Amino acid sequence: MGRTWSDLKAVLITHAHPDHTGSARAVKDHSQAPVTMSARDARVPHGLEPVTPPPLKDALGPLGGAFRFLPKAEGFSVATELVADGTAGLPEDWAVISTPGHTPGHVSYLLDRAGGLLFAGDAAMVNRSGEVYPGLMNPKSEQVKQSIVQLAKRDFRAAYFGHGGHLTNDAASAFRRFAYQQQ
Ligand SMILES: [Zn+2]
Repeated sequence: MGRTWSDLKAVLITHAHPDHTGSARAVKDHSQAPVTMSARDARVPHGLEPVTPPPLKDALGPLGGAFRFLPKAEGFSVATELVADGTAGLPEDWAVISTPGHTPGHVSYLLDRAGGLLFAGDAAMVNRSGEVYPGLMNPKSEQVKQSIVQLAKRDFRAAYFGHGGHLTNDAASAFRRFAYQQQ
């Protein structure tokens, strides 16, 4: 992107899984940017508890087995531990929405820019038809579904996910279609 480490002002983490935090220590050390994540999930990088596996369909299935063998992320210090929805502690134009289920302290971030940009982490995924769904790792979790229902109450144009594709237009409508089907 043609940026340097000093351009980086904040590191916002959705949840404490190693594929989302693995570079956090190095990025923080190079940029000196403060790391933000939920107080609940910050317990993992702070070494207070082990990584929580996602609510897999079958914890003994191939994905469940594979998760245990993922490399561990290095520990790092979290400067801002989020405890409530809103804008407190976040850079300008950013807001946090708690979306537990994939991990106990999973959060999503909403950037109030260009019609609203949602960073949903692993709270959801989108399929090739543009339908939002709980994702491969979360299929049976009622809490994950309720988190998507909460996101559907917000307004945003685009949505970006931790894995798979993204939605660049009318993204909130796709979340609302999922929420409608849950009624
Ligand atoms: Zn994850």
